[in-house]
Amino acid sequence: MARQITLIPGDGIGPEVAKATVRAVQASGSQLEWERVAAGARALEESGQLLPDDVFASLEVTRVGLKGPTTTPVGAGHQSINVALRKKLGLYVNFRPVRMLPGLKTRYSDLPLDIVIFRENTEDLYSGLEHEVIPDVVESLKIITKTASLKIARATFEYARREKRRKVTAIHKANIMKMSDGLFLKCCREVAASYPEIEYTELIVDNACMQLVMRPETFDLLVLPNLYGDIVSDLAAGLVGGLGIVPGANFGDGHAIFEAVHGTAPDIAGKGLANPTALMQSAVLMLAHIGERAAAAKLRRAIERVYAEGRHLTRDVGGTAGTAEFTDAVIQAMA
Ligand code: NAD
Repeated sequence: MARQITLIPGDGIGPEVAKATVRAVQASGSQLEWERVAAGARALEESGQLLPDDVFASLEVTRVGLKGPTTTPVGAGHQSINVALRKKLGLYVNFRPVRMLPGLKTRYSDLPLDIVIFRENTEDLYSGLEHEVIPDVVESLKIITKTASLKIARATFEYARREKRRKVTAIHKANIMKMSDGLFLKCCREVAASYPEIEYTELIVDNACMQLVMRPETFDLLVLPNLYGDIVSDLAAGLVGGLGIVPGANFGDGHAIFEAVHGTAPDIAGKGLANPTALMQSAVLMLAHIGERAAAAKLRRAIERVYAEGRHLTRDVGGTAGTAEFTDAVIQAMA
């Protein structure tokens, strides 16, 4: 029986990269049945709900989703769908492997970068707890708990042990936020003590950003609270060719949602220019997660081959192809 997957195409370039990814996944030989559900700005227009109930009903059955980006208005308007989904489904790990693709010309092409980001996904300044204390004075609450900090630290070290990685760096600002980031660090240290074979280091977030730009090859696994994780993910994406490349996965104990690091890219939406690599690479993670290892390897190798050849790359990574031409090349590479 075909494995059911919830597909949330999302907004902006979401439907374009989702369509490309579904085509590529189908060509990988996996037997999947996509259950399409709408969420985001388009769902709000069509059904009056940002996150309609059928999204949760579908995920309750499938337990696995592939999601395109969704719009979150700046400075006003509705809550982020991602924050709502991650909190409601308890998706406490945001996993983002940042790897250099073969042949891709970037400022760091000569470095074999392979950094994995573990971003805490449920709390910190993303709790959305903001209020006006008195006129013109606003307070935003940063929540850090021992439970969530231990969970993300354990997920990081477990991965390090399983994948035989060498080093975990915890990133913080505990020199200023002594209690909140201090608690995060305390939890990371406590977990690190149970994994003596893995090197453990700590860096203040501003210094970490500089080091990532100057010496990215010295990093291995990063564990961060939510906000620093969000910012450092985009910085790290810039090291390996930009947001068009880097995939992601949100893991909880019962569900997993796979999505790219990038947003809805309103500047190129609807033009057929979006790079679907990041969502395709998210689909590779998804296929491995559901046990379709052969299909995952086939799709990963096809993406790598198209990059190594360099003839059908999209504009964001220095090529001239559109979304469809790149996708056709990936499918051709699997034939
Ligand atoms: P963005 O990631 O959408 O775009 C940043 C830049 O990167 C743009 O120039 C864009 O064209 C480029 N880019 C991103 N993805 C690309 C791709 N696949 N191919 C080629 N170029 C790509 O960031 P933004 O402009 O700050 O945010 C736009 C919207 O996306 C906002 O509403 C934001 O809230 C939302 N967003 C959603 C998610 C998500 O749903 N996971 C993540 C981040 C941002």
